[in-house]
Amino acid sequence: PRMVKESLYTYVRPEPTEEPELLCVSPRALDDIGLTPSEAETDEFKEVVAGNKTLTWDEKENTEGGGIYPWAQCYGGYQFGQWAGQLGDGRAISLFESTNPATGTRYEIQLKGAGRTPYSRFADGKAVLRSSIREFVVSEYLNAIKIPTTRALALTHCKNTKVIRERREPGAIVARFAQSWIRLGTFDLPRMRGDRKLVRQLADYTAEHVYGGWDKLSTKLPPGDAKETHASASTGIPSSETEGTGLEEENRYTRLYRSIIRRNATTVAKWQAYGFMNGVLNTDNTSILGLSIDFGPFAFLDTFDPMYTPNHDDHMLRYSYRNQPTIIWWNLVRLGESLGELMGAGAKVDSAEFVEKGVQEEEVDELVKRAEGIIERAGEEYKAVFLAEYKTLMTARLGLKTHRDEDFDALFSELLDFLEAYELDFHHAFRRLGSVKLGELETEEARKDVAGRFFRANEAPRQEAESRERIGKWLEKWAARVKEDWGEGKDEERLKVMNAVNPKFVPRSWILDELIERVEKKGERDILPEVMKLNLDPFAETWGWNESEEERFCGDVPKYKGMLQCSCSS
Ligand code: AMP
Ligand code: MG
Ligand code: MG
Repeated sequence: PRMVKESLYTYVRPEPTEEPELLCVSPRALDDIGLTPSEAETDEFKEVVAGNKTLTWDEKENTEGGGIYPWAQCYGGYQFGQWAGQLGDGRAISLFESTNPATGTRYEIQLKGAGRTPYSRFADGKAVLRSSIREFVVSEYLNAIKIPTTRALALTHCKNTKVIRERREPGAIVARFAQSWIRLGTFDLPRMRGDRKLVRQLADYTAEHVYGGWDKLSTKLPPGDAKETHASASTGIPSSETEGTGLEEENRYTRLYRSIIRRNATTVAKWQAYGFMNGVLNTDNTSILGLSIDFGPFAFLDTFDPMYTPNHDDHMLRYSYRNQPTIIWWNLVRLGESLGELMGAGAKVDSAEFVEKGVQEEEVDELVKRAEGIIERAGEEYKAVFLAEYKTLMTARLGLKTHRDEDFDALFSELLDFLEAYELDFHHAFRRLGSVKLGELETEEARKDVAGRFFRANEAPRQEAESRERIGKWLEKWAARVKEDWGEGKDEERLKVMNAVNPKFVPRSWILDELIERVEKKGERDILPEVMKLNLDPFAETWGWNESEEERFCGDVPKYKGMLQCSCSS
């Protein structure tokens, strides 16, 4: 382990694994990177995902400047709000980049848990089986419910690798991929070291190679109310504020910053709408592409509790459900500070002098100061993009076709409030609402009856009468809005539309715990591939596996297994 300066990665070799056992491959992931199922059955595939075979510079013919060698990335980060210095890929090693010929999408494929790197600090570079199962499952689930995420291709059990955590545990390797593994923390590190040249190189690289070119960056105006604050369509900055400041033209670094903000705002809105918590939203765990990334003590909600944090060590509730949008913004402000002098330099960044020499030392403070206004306006844009996405998703989840301002309080907030008050299941509420027919909601008594579908089987909340009354009233308002949007006699059609956005299966903490137990302790080898069917197709009604198991995994959370917490030691 060592400090790595003036550089963003280090070449490094995975450690070989004796007798690797390939436990599971994601068929969806295979397809997305452009491999066939039979290619995943070859020994070569198994050896590559276990870190035993690396395609290297010497083995590959050096055509077109090609040739590859595995690497680990260098980054830093703010952990729980404190600057933590250099972190880096302590146990992740990227093998190569690969472009799917059918879609043209390029991915960086890497192994997690394949041994130490210069960034391992005091740790072993290994990953335990339990956390690897969790990452493997959740990556593919988030993708299945259309939330941007890093992906999981293969899970390998390393039975001869014993990893010491609270106890001795079996090791594992997850082969995973993403369009980029760059994090906000990748910018934090050179910025905190005063390496301004590297910040600029990284920003250029991100725009040109991750976002696909400066011309691909978002120039959209912020949606909704924020529009008024942006007087000029071309610059995105009110003209009164730009006069004589050199900011007449929003420069390309500001556009890069805004693109990164918009992606993250969209993703965090999806997390909120689907009840997902990352659990450790440090800047090194926040993606430059707005991907869900770094799955440690993550969880989905069971009952609706906005104060819930899945992270056992998060005593301040910094990474709780309700704090996620604020914390991602906090992280994005750190990025704004890293990009400050570049954004503040306005049109100058396109001058020949800038391209050659960058910002002059004596100008830095002033330019960073100028960027404060840009960051502030970007904050308004972040809120607007977040809200627009959140409204769209909640509207769809409630089976509505249009959004009215009143819906926010009358339908969204009131739903969440009664779920919280009566400790009802967040995911079941949406899925079960889909099956409610308008004809079932015509009288007060009938609505109180239907309210019972939000309860656990054979178990009403303590305040049963009150809850039926309150939920009944909500159903009445909901039914009126559904009628407005759909007209009468469209129950079947609406059910289909709602089921396509409200998953039946959610990989909750108790399910992941059971999977881990069955794979690790009981040695079951079919359970993971079977549960992957639910996981990859979570909106279906049945999966042709085992009806009672399917219903159990989609049913009520077993007593005392709700809202579990997880520690970071993985
Ligand atoms: P995380 O909490 O997953 O964001 O990890 C924070 C930092 O610790 C990252 O730089 C990881 O690469 C590093 N890290 C975590 N676990 C290990 C491990 N077992 N071996 C080496 N580095 C690790
Ligand atoms: Mg991390
Ligand atoms: Mg991690």
